[in-house]
Amino acid sequence: MEKFCPRCGKTVEKVHGPKNVCADCYRTTEDFVEIPEEIEFIQCPVCGNYRIENVWKDFEGDQKLVYDVLKQFEKEEVEMAVSFKKRRNKYIVEVMMEVQDAGDTIRQVKNTELVPKEKQCKKCSRYQGGYFEAILQLRGKISEDMFGELMEKAGRMTSKDRSDFVSNVEEIHGGYDVYVSSLKMLRSILEDLNEEFDVDENWSRELVGRKDGEEIYRTVVSARIID
Ligand SMILES: [Zn+2]
Ligand SMILES: [Zn+2]
Repeated sequence: MEKFCPRCGKTVEKVHGPKNVCADCYRTTEDFVEIPEEIEFIQCPVCGNYRIENVWKDFEGDQKLVYDVLKQFEKEEVEMAVSFKKRRNKYIVEVMMEVQDAGDTIRQVKNTELVPKEKQCKKCSRYQGGYFEAILQLRGKISEDMFGELMEKAGRMTSKDRSDFVSNVEEIHGGYDVYVSSLKMLRSILEDLNEEFDVDENWSRELVGRKDGEEIYRTVVSARIID
């Protein structure tokens, strides 16, 4: 049965969408997916990680980033594909959309720009702010060379995960005070130490404050190398 489009008056076989219009009118007047012309997202200027709906994601490449940013607009009934180019730190994106309606495939193309807003992620701001969670007080027979080796190993761990790092070292008479960002880092250094020496460890915890109603402790380990 022939129908006609109430919008353009064309005679058509099928009409689409809530307004029962022809495929062309449907494509040009309905947003298959509501995508703003500009989409802002938070990105860390140091490591490139980005935040989508309050979750920080590791930067694994431009394609994954574009996909992640657009994912929040996705609709189940709309098939989406994207192509993009990067202009400085912005992404110029073309979104191809497809819906199945009344046995037809109708396509729509939209352009949008993904614009990063710089904000340092927690890991990076901690890193740069000299954050620490534990102190390792290294005492006893440890030479400068041995200590250097130990710190090198620690550095390799940081390159794997930026949340594990040595934020400060103080050389004091009879040893070193090593400020570390995480208990994981602390344990790893102690493990390296125990592999080579007999170590007398003494663990303690001190209350350093409160945050959001929770008590915050700092771990202090005194590690004495016995000869
Ligand atoms: Zn029409
Ligand atoms: Zn970062």
